[in-house]
Amino acid sequence: MYKLFTANMKKYPHFETNAVRGQMSRSQKKEHSAPIFATSSFVFDSAEEARAVFAEEADGYFYSRYSNPNTDEFVEKLCALEGVDDGIATATGMAANFLAIMAHLRAGDHIVSSRSLFTSTHQIITQLLPRYGISHTYVDCGDKEEWQEAIMPTTRLLFIETPSNPGLDLVDIGFVVALARENNCIVAIDNSFASPYIQTPAQFGADLICHSATKFIDGQGRTMGGAVVGSHEAMEQVRFFARQTGPTLAPFNAWILSKSLETLPVRMEKHCQNAMKFAEFLSQSKDIQSVRYPFLPSYPQYELAKKQMRLGGAMVSFEVAGGYERCIRFIDKLEMISVTPNLGDTRTALTHPASTTHSKLSEDERLAVNITKELVRVSVGLEHIDDIIADVDHALKKSK
Ligand SMILES: *Cc1c(COP(=O)(O)O)cnc(C)c1O
Repeated sequence: MYKLFTANMKKYPHFETNAVRGQMSRSQKKEHSAPIFATSSFVFDSAEEARAVFAEEADGYFYSRYSNPNTDEFVEKLCALEGVDDGIATATGMAANFLAIMAHLRAGDHIVSSRSLFTSTHQIITQLLPRYGISHTYVDCGDKEEWQEAIMPTTRLLFIETPSNPGLDLVDIGFVVALARENNCIVAIDNSFASPYIQTPAQFGADLICHSATKFIDGQGRTMGGAVVGSHEAMEQVRFFARQTGPTLAPFNAWILSKSLETLPVRMEKHCQNAMKFAEFLSQSKDIQSVRYPFLPSYPQYELAKKQMRLGGAMVSFEVAGGYERCIRFIDKLEMISVTPNLGDTRTALTHPASTTHSKLSEDERLAVNITKELVRVSVGLEHIDDIIADVDHALKKSK
């Protein structure tokens, strides 16, 4: 039997080394790369062992909805990178967000959330939570007074997504954590856009950190996956909720994602380098009305970006000059860049949020988070930056 590697894992001083070396201990076969445990259950040597494992008196695997060596390896490595001590892997990023939101709430509770959110998260809060008697208040990402005024005696959870999708609005994590502490609330953050290489919210005191591992963690557009990680205390309810409701990550997907973490640092460095050059190109183009990229000095929240992010990330949003029709013509003239909702891929991917990912929102809801009809979101990939820029430049010229 493989041991849970928490017990054995050596922690190294550097992120890159933990990403590469954080792996389960070897079996007697001495494999260098972890094998895949495609099994739903595990065998006990005796009735007594079965009893002890079920009673949580002894460590051991018994059923893959609860835990599996591959999901453990992935999530424990992610915990090391996020600087927290507990977590669980989930089948998708939305399962992670749903767990983090639901696990601590009950009927009558209230949640305060930043308004700029991934659409499905917005739909959970707006459409589903009211069915269960849970109310919410949305606030502008950067408006501190609005955050303070939104807190009610029944507020239990503050939920943030920073940088946000697709507007790249930032929330001051340290400020929201301090507000939560004063009011006895938990802070959950969707860290998918940044990845732990760029932003580690636990460093500012966040209790629960959610990931869509489908994005930068996989990094190659191959698999769905997610995780919630955080303090033992905050994770207890999340684990209970997850074990009963079953949003478990499959061992094969966990194996892919654990391997992907090994290359996260090198990929993110290159993504961010390309994105910075891309944002600079856009900010100098007359065909572009506005550019949003956290590490551009012209960015309204540049100071905050520098405070809580190590690099600017791979996401760039911009508005094409000349109106909606021109924006659509521009998209149709692209020859290399993929028009697809995924992000965090090696391939540069472009989305028109108003007509696709955010089409479920009303026009007022979209405009409240600055999603105009001319807004385009790009996940800058790992192609040569000159080829990415050439494709955009060509499409801008052809769409005039
Ligand atoms: C994609 C995404 C999600 C949802 O993740 P899935 O893996 O698609 O379920 C949640 N939050 C953000 C910020 C995302 O980009």
